Amino acid sequence: MSKYPFLDEKIDELKKSGVYRTLPINYGPIDHTIDLNHKLVINLSSNNYLGLATHERIKHAAVRAIDQYGVGAGSVRTIVGNQDLLEHLEIILANFKHEEAVTCFQSGFTCNLGVIPALTDKDDLIISDELNHASIIDGIRLSKAERMVYRHSDMNHLEELLLQHRSSYKNVFIITDGVFSMDGDIAQLPEIVKLAKKYQALTYVDDAHGSGVLGESGRGTVDHFHLNGEVDFIVGTLSKAIGVVGGYLASKQIVKDWLLHRARPLLFSTALPPSAIASTIEAVKILSESDAYTKRLWDNSFYFKEGLKNLGFDIGHSETPITPVMIGEEAKTMAFSKALLAEGVFVSAIVFPTVPQGKGRLRCMLSASHTKEDLDRALEAFELVGKQMNIIV
Ligand SMILES: *Cc1c(COP(=O)(O)O)cnc(C)c1O
Repeated sequence: MSKYPFLDEKIDELKKSGVYRTLPINYGPIDHTIDLNHKLVINLSSNNYLGLATHERIKHAAVRAIDQYGVGAGSVRTIVGNQDLLEHLEIILANFKHEEAVTCFQSGFTCNLGVIPALTDKDDLIISDELNHASIIDGIRLSKAERMVYRHSDMNHLEELLLQHRSSYKNVFIITDGVFSMDGDIAQLPEIVKLAKKYQALTYVDDAHGSGVLGESGRGTVDHFHLNGEVDFIVGTLSKAIGVVGGYLASKQIVKDWLLHRARPLLFSTALPPSAIASTIEAVKILSESDAYTKRLWDNSFYFKEGLKNLGFDIGHSETPITPVMIGEEAKTMAFSKALLAEGVFVSAIVFPTVPQGKGRLRCMLSASHTKEDLDRALEAFELVGKQMNIIV
């Protein structure tokens, strides 16, 4: 018994249902292989899609920024935390995204938490895809607007809701992930944009898993569908493919003007540190110079997916480098992950409540940093464990 019986109860419940866990410890950089709990394993679980987290140019940019600016912003953005580096990054990012303005936040999570309540009001309606990310859900919870949820990527359901409810609200916001993180499928943005036009709704796309992955040199899902200028609010993260930390909204300038007055994470939480900003500037430069990183990411993804399919695994219907290997039962999924780790491959098991009951999976995250040897070795481990556990023949 601890000092807090109410927590003892909750922790006991976790243990009883077999989902209590301790966190593995990574003793070095996040790379294609990692020193996890003092064992060198192939890393198939990070969002470091392009391998930029350890890129020499990007690391040096951080060091130079620390020399010049120190380690912290010292204040929230709206007081004295608005460093010239940050202004510079926002211009570079806006150019990269072909949008008028970019507003940076401390993370993708705080971006949704700040932007959604700032844009929406009590006479408004938010219509949200049922598989949207937790930060969207929390951002909506902080909003005064009414909310409705449409079945995942079900455009008929979305239109039904618009048809039934559009006229009762001032503004209607359709919010969706660009790429859905558990299945790797892409939102049907062309249809969503069409419906938004038809019903005079606004569109909000959180492209955390599309940034750096889809579109020309990783410009994102909106660019992938050639919809530049057609989506009202585009969220991106600097924490995944960009390899650093941070989030941003790409939008019209007037939206930024408003956010600088009303988005609470900008008013009440310290701005990004100069090292992170300088690293991100360098990362965006690297992506603007060359599509070599996104090419390698996609080559690796196709290669690995082909390998898994040839072995007979069910890899769902992903359209991106997110590669789920469907196992089903929770305990079996956890056991598969554990057996892979014993073979030197780390893939995290994703089970209920992150995905529905009985839909447990191993979610493989491919990266440009993986070598062919990494992928071949990982496929061998999958084959071995899959046969041992009678998941493939
Ligand atoms: C990962 C993710 C976020 C959070 O981004 P961070 O920069 O890690 O805070 C937000 N939205 C979606 C859709 C995500 O997948």
